[in-house]
Order: sequence, then C-alpha cells, then structure tokens
Amino acid sequence: MTDTTSSPTPPDTSRPGDQVPPGTPGAGDNVCPRCGGSGLLAGSACPECAGSGHVTTPIGGG
Ligand SMILES: [Zn+2]
Repeated sequence: MTDTTSSPTPPDTSRPGDQVPPGTPGAGDNVCPRCGGSGLLAGSACPECAGSGHVTTPIGGG
C-alpha cells in the first residue's frame, strides 16, 4: 500500500484539438486544420494539436 498516487495512466496522445478521445470507434487521426499538419503555428507549437500536426476527429463529417 505504498501507491498514494493511483491516477490512471493517461493516453500517450492528448491534444487540445482532439474532438474525440483516442480509441473512439469511427474516429481517426487527421491533419490538424489549424496548422495544416505542420505542427507549428506562427513559429510556435500549434495549440490545437500540441505540435503533433494531427488531431483525432470523428469520421463522417466535414
Ligand atoms: Zn495543429
């Protein structure tokens, strides 16, 4: 009983721009519409995709 911090392990990819949680059925990794997939915005890491250039969005929309 030495585990005082029993917080669940978060997914390795957590980005503000993710519209759905990773692993959601019907969702996929798409190019970040804000930075165009470069991961950079005005010389800094894109806040939408956290600099990854991709965000998880549901499939079926536009
Ligand atoms: Zn981005």
